[in-house]
Amino acid sequence: MTSFDLETYSQGLTDFITASPCASFAAQTLADIYSSQGFKPVDPTRAWPTSPGRYFLRHKGALIAWMVPAGSPKAFRIIGSHTDSPAFKLKPTPDSLSPDGWGQLNVEVYGGMLPNSWLNRELGIAGIIYDQTGKSHQVHTGPIATIPQLAPHLDRDSANKLELDRQQHLRPLWYLGESPRAILEVIAAQAGLRNAEEISSHELYTFDTHEPQRLGTDGEFLASARQDNLLSVYSATKALLSLAETDFQGENILISAAFDHEEVGSHTEIGAAGPLLEQVLRRCARATGEVEAFERMLAASSCLSADVAHSVNPNYPEKHDPDTRPVMGAGPVLKLNASQRYATDAQGWHIWEDAAGRCGVKTQCFVSNNAVTCGSTIAPM
Ligand SMILES: [Zn+2]
Repeated sequence: MTSFDLETYSQGLTDFITASPCASFAAQTLADIYSSQGFKPVDPTRAWPTSPGRYFLRHKGALIAWMVPAGSPKAFRIIGSHTDSPAFKLKPTPDSLSPDGWGQLNVEVYGGMLPNSWLNRELGIAGIIYDQTGKSHQVHTGPIATIPQLAPHLDRDSANKLELDRQQHLRPLWYLGESPRAILEVIAAQAGLRNAEEISSHELYTFDTHEPQRLGTDGEFLASARQDNLLSVYSATKALLSLAETDFQGENILISAAFDHEEVGSHTEIGAAGPLLEQVLRRCARATGEVEAFERMLAASSCLSADVAHSVNPNYPEKHDPDTRPVMGAGPVLKLNASQRYATDAQGWHIWEDAAGRCGVKTQCFVSNNAVTCGSTIAPM
């Protein structure tokens, strides 16, 4: 096992977040990282690899990486996370022009965002486009747009209550000028295409162009967009890679699954409720040549859903149960919920405690205030 160095780790995380303005970029960044560490890309339209080794399957904004040991594997050990974060997604006809000559982008809301957190920031556009030949291109711009908040004297109530209409008030402004521009012309140029006519389709999102910053007198905090959930994606990746470095000789197939579309419910081809992970498990099991390998291994398997936890905001302590609140610096948080929104049961809790104990890591449990509904993530899927 490699030793843990906080400076190296936080710089690596910063680089990963900066290189991943949206899910498709996060998946590409992961593919680059795994390739550089000797993991082989697997093409699901071809025969599945049957030999032990390190592999990954990237599909759009999702990526699953795994290591197969020599011999007959006993089980799957899985970490799940998600590559996507809330953002504004460009509509198919993304351009509007205000009567005063402002270019306004037509967008819809992606994911469970706090809209006010997107005001007065320098926004870029990132994502994927397909050209007329069916070739995909990943594109991202620099800071080109902003959503300005209404001046306080024009909304006397805003100091106490900010109301943002999702159709009217959240349109990014991106130029002021005599000659109207089309955002897809900018995107086409980024992709090396001649003009917007060559763009056949697109999935493009706004992102906060500010790079992550260390915060605090000792730099003990990291302030950054998209930590939910690139933090977990990066941690899971580092965990798998640290085992790969040791010439891993285990008895289980180790898997890191980074899904897309968690922010919108996961029920898609590349979401956690979709078929992607099961396909990988089934085909890995079938590659052993044993008829019942999938069922046998699944019965002995475990899955850790890795996502972020919100610490108590000390300005709102009443939002948490005082006995089971997440505290900064008190270690990784295990979330429990009687209605199974986190899917943690006693067996999973034990596996967590056992693993943390063997690493000498202190942990804490979170259960929500009974009067405040809790969130959820990919675990139940
Ligand atoms: Zn999350």
